[in-house]
Amino acid sequence: MTSVIVTGSLTGIGLGIAKAFARMPNMNMMLNGLDVSAPSVLEEVRSVAKPQNKVEYCQADLTNHAKIEELIQTTHRVFGRVDVVINNAGIQHVAPCDQFDPKQWDLIMAINLTAVFHMTRHSLPIMRKQGFGRIINVASVHGHVASANKCAYVAAKHGVIGFTKTVALEVAKENITCNAVCPGWVMTPLVEAQINARASKSGKGFDAEMKALVGEKMPSERPASAEEIGAACIYLSLPSSRSTNGTSMIIDGGWTAQ
Ligand code: NAD
Repeated sequence: MTSVIVTGSLTGIGLGIAKAFARMPNMNMMLNGLDVSAPSVLEEVRSVAKPQNKVEYCQADLTNHAKIEELIQTTHRVFGRVDVVINNAGIQHVAPCDQFDPKQWDLIMAINLTAVFHMTRHSLPIMRKQGFGRIINVASVHGHVASANKCAYVAAKHGVIGFTKTVALEVAKENITCNAVCPGWVMTPLVEAQINARASKSGKGFDAEMKALVGEKMPSERPASAEEIGAACIYLSLPSSRSTNGTSMIIDGGWTAQ
């Protein structure tokens, strides 16, 4: 059985990734997040999982380095292995640089970048012993290009891509890989709520507002689904993706092709 951890998997993209893995044969899943909704989400993922797959939850605040180590060690103890680590949890705060709250900067760095380092450093010794490992970092199109008012997020996501390349070089001779996936807009409950808010203000309807919002950046004029990001992560988790190492797979409907 393959043992998979997805951080921040109680909502949004992380939940989509967790469900995509749970539907695959021979995948044990460790969910993680902060939300009080954990028991119902656990049941939701279990309900779509293949019968032999175990789905468990470990509450770990990723700003706490000791808790990150606990998350890795708990997964190792419960499933006997740590094969695939998906660093998905991330937060956003929007403000111009000179008005950006330094506390928000520190929090974004802690969750979006530093936690990726701690998750990776605690996983690698286990992966080396197993002779197999796949680290997948959910970065963003903002790891490649910037948008105004997102200085911390853009800096952290560029950092994740640099970190991914560095680890990839360090494990290149082993059966371990480190890659990033870089979504543009993804249809999550938060994005859906944003589109709904625009639609009720303008009266133009959900589809028109989705095209207007997403189409500003993405020629596809539609956000990706969380399942599409899950499919990319599944590819990167396979034994057959061994030569894909240090990449950042862009899933942005053409945003950065322009
Ligand atoms: P989301 O807010 O729906 O989910 C974030 C998850 O992270 C939640 O489950 C939350 O509980 C968890 N989390 C937050 N702080 C945490 C902490 N301290 N410890 C543990 N868990 C914590 O967000 P999302 O939109 O699904 O984003 C997931 C990832 O995808 C993020 O890294 C984000 O930057 C990236 N991303 C999202 C989009 C998008 O359009 N939604 C686009 C590109 C990249």
